[in-house]
Amino acid sequence: MMKKMLLSLSILLISTLSVFSQQPLDYKPKVLMVTAHPDDDALFSATVWKTTQLLDGTVDLALMTNGEGGYTYSTLGNYYYGLELDKEEIGREYLPGIRKKELIAGGDIVGIRDYFFFDQKDFYFTLDVEKTLTKWNTEPIVDRLEEIMQEEEYDFLFLLLPFDQFHGHHKAATVIALQAMERLPKNERPIALASFIRRGPDDPGVEFSVLEGHPNTKAMDGVTFEFDRNQTFGANERLNYTLIAHWVIAEHKSQGTMQMRTQNSVGNIEKYWYLEINGEGGIEKASTYFEAVNAVQPD
Ligand SMILES: [Zn+2]
Repeated sequence: MMKKMLLSLSILLISTLSVFSQQPLDYKPKVLMVTAHPDDDALFSATVWKTTQLLDGTVDLALMTNGEGGYTYSTLGNYYYGLELDKEEIGREYLPGIRKKELIAGGDIVGIRDYFFFDQKDFYFTLDVEKTLTKWNTEPIVDRLEEIMQEEEYDFLFLLLPFDQFHGHHKAATVIALQAMERLPKNERPIALASFIRRGPDDPGVEFSVLEGHPNTKAMDGVTFEFDRNQTFGANERLNYTLIAHWVIAEHKSQGTMQMRTQNSVGNIEKYWYLEINGEGGIEKASTYFEAVNAVQPD
């Protein structure tokens, strides 16, 4: 800890760019998010924003589906876009294009650098991960993700926590990412973290140990990290990081329910489960990273 403090002090002294002056890490964190639908990334939004804006890091996104199944709650989107998006055949035709634009508008807010679109069919809601893996063109996606991870040498993989009641597409995105990661030599792998939101200090959050049939999703007992969007900053401590999540989610005007979930929740804690596949060797790096995420604040 002392070493880290001395290090950040020396960075402070030599840096002429005040925007980077508080960067407490001795490297620029590189993250790959792997998600299923074009708004899933909102789950990580405050951590991503801090990483790109305050830690001088890089965040890319690999997106599995084209989001066409999001027509269900497009009622207000009909008016915004002038199309009957909540009619299945119209939604499925237009939403892939519309939702990519919404995604990138949200991504611009949190500073996402590159997108890898896999355009798999967003067929319908199912809890079934195996059905999803069968319907998608899984093998080529694993191959491409492996290449991307090899080329980019990410520090961290942000995944959707594959708990039982979560969408099968979310679980499949995580399984695919972990299959790609497992193909890399151990010392070249990013550290895999799977995330979900806790509403606030009183919400114990979801229980997660492992996705049945996929042992590589096993969480390491008791090793989780959090960032609470309610952390305050600014004049009179009146601002907090729920703003970032609201900005991102508000870009998704063809959608609806996630906006309401966020506004109704008392708190928004981004919780990350450290997976066993990382081994114990990555715990310190992950923990130092989350210490930095929690510590940095805007100037
Ligand atoms: Zn989703």
